[in-house]
Amino acid sequence: MKISIVIPSYNEESNIALLFDKIKKVLTGLSYECIFVDDGSKDATFKNIKELATNNIEVKGISFSRNFGHQIALLAGLKESEGDVIIMMDADGQHPPEVIPELLKKHDEGFEIVNTRRLSTADAGAFKKFTSKSYYRLINSLTEVRIEPASSDFRLMSRKVADAFLQIEEKDRFTRGLVSWMGFKQTIVEFNAPPRMTGVSKYTFKKMIHFAWDGITSFSSKPLKFSLFAGLFSLVFGVIYSFYALIEFILGNTIPGWTSTILIILLLGGVQLLSLGIIGQYLSRIFNEAKNRPHYFIQDRCE
Ligand code: UDP
Ligand code: MG
Repeated sequence: MKISIVIPSYNEESNIALLFDKIKKVLTGLSYECIFVDDGSKDATFKNIKELATNNIEVKGISFSRNFGHQIALLAGLKESEGDVIIMMDADGQHPPEVIPELLKKHDEGFEIVNTRRLSTADAGAFKKFTSKSYYRLINSLTEVRIEPASSDFRLMSRKVADAFLQIEEKDRFTRGLVSWMGFKQTIVEFNAPPRMTGVSKYTFKKMIHFAWDGITSFSSKPLKFSLFAGLFSLVFGVIYSFYALIEFILGNTIPGWTSTILIILLLGGVQLLSLGIIGQYLSRIFNEAKNRPHYFIQDRCE
């Protein structure tokens, strides 16, 4: 049985060799390959992958033509993999290789997908913890697929599942939602995430927001319904208020109603802009799918 390890790496020059050392220790005696996907790094990440590949036959690398993002790097790594079992993990050591034997054990027990859940993250601040928790609550209330809180993109999948996953052509990808949606026999292993070995987080606030929004719009059309309900609500309110205004007019009580006018304009304007915005977001997803561009371009490879 051959194991493929897929590692998306963006500006991780100082972590590549450190991580491979740890993996090597954990997997001695087993047949495996380590696929590093350089996601358009600006530092020496790919140079270091190449160096590692010259000295270790287990190491393979591909390098993107630009930064396509973590989720796309996962997809590319899976496409390159040849193993009977595939494990995806971060390059920064926050997904400890020491957990791999536990994942393999679950696979031996007959699970096709072994997901993981972070019990704690050593270097996550209160803000990240709070936003993460609220986010999972929100997404689970909006979508039909169950997405475990504190889940991560550290998981094992069998060849069968990987091939199925590669059939999903979707452009804006939210891997943990897709995996949950796929079905198959799944289980969860818990682990403690240590701090990054070196460097800083590559998920900027902007990337985090983008990722979070992809998660919701991939699996729920409820935000569109919100536009509908907000529209209906303001319509009903508008009709009632119109009657009131007419009656007041007939009774001759009309006064210059600046407050009510401005309130209605503001409320309606707000609801309309919000609704348009939500529709626009889904439209942009359709636009992305319609263009049907390749997910990524490979600029270089090494073995
Ligand atoms: N990553 C990537 N492309 C990106 C951003 C991140 O391939 O555009 C990789 C990164 O190198 C790491 C993993 O995704 O291996 C998780 O990123 P990071 O550790 O920075 O996120 P955090 O753990 O802080 O949430
Ligand atoms: Mg990390």
